[in-house]
Amino acid sequence: MKNLGGHVGVAFFGILSFAITVALVTAIDRATGFNLFALSVWVVVPVGATLTGAAAASGYYFGSLLFHTRPNWFLLVQVMIVAALAQFAIYYAEYSTLVLDNGIRVADRIGFFDYLDIRLTTAHMRIGRAQTDTGAVGSFGYWLAVFQFVGFILGGIATYVFLKDHPVCKICSRYPRKLATSMQHFNDREAFATYYDNLFDHPVDGPVFAQWMGHDPDKGLIREGTILATSTLRGCPHCKTQRIGQAVQIMGKSDWSAVPSLTRDVGIPQDIDLRPVFKGETGRRISAQPASA
Ligand SMILES: [Zn+2]
Repeated sequence: MKNLGGHVGVAFFGILSFAITVALVTAIDRATGFNLFALSVWVVVPVGATLTGAAAASGYYFGSLLFHTRPNWFLLVQVMIVAALAQFAIYYAEYSTLVLDNGIRVADRIGFFDYLDIRLTTAHMRIGRAQTDTGAVGSFGYWLAVFQFVGFILGGIATYVFLKDHPVCKICSRYPRKLATSMQHFNDREAFATYYDNLFDHPVDGPVFAQWMGHDPDKGLIREGTILATSTLRGCPHCKTQRIGQAVQIMGKSDWSAVPSLTRDVGIPQDIDLRPVFKGETGRRISAQPASA
């Protein structure tokens, strides 16, 4: 395995995020009585567990970006182990820190698995906006724990998938760093389509491309149906080659929703630095639409 030091560093970051997540979830539960990882939608969809699993595995994501290690099967195994262990580590942290009102430490009186059995079967579910208490969940508590376990694993896998999807320098397979972003707003679909279809027809170091990148006709006029193109300029820290990633969103009644089919990631020829274009230093910002031919 090449870059062994990098992989060790990544593993260290992963274990660190795991420990921090377990400590935070337990501390919040102790302080407020709110258990983040038990949060679910429609009783069985383990949203909180998925987020907690992703948080526990997030060190693998950030460590990989930092050390430029590519995700491989060994990373996936680590991520899944950490996500799966997080649930039990949180149970154990609860168990070992639980002190009853009469000052008795629970861990001094009963074993961990006895504690776990009581904890899972006597938990109370609260359902709906009124937070109606449905009473102790009984053996269904074990099923809830299984659903949450699946949530933790899914959270870990999501972390891995995000890393797999992260842009990579095609030349030296390192992770490019973000250099600049720019946003462009369109209230007219035709105007957006003309922009989107023509942008990369022009040489990226020429004036027309710079004009298109500075073209933001409906900035500040966001309404339902507004199309937002977000461009991210990334540069490889090693060979300096740049890439432009574009993501497109449409404004709904109150929220942006992504249009994944329009996402693109375009390589820029070597030795071209587009940072001035993103900062608007080249290409006059014009209010009229740039020439499309
Ligand atoms: Zn490179």
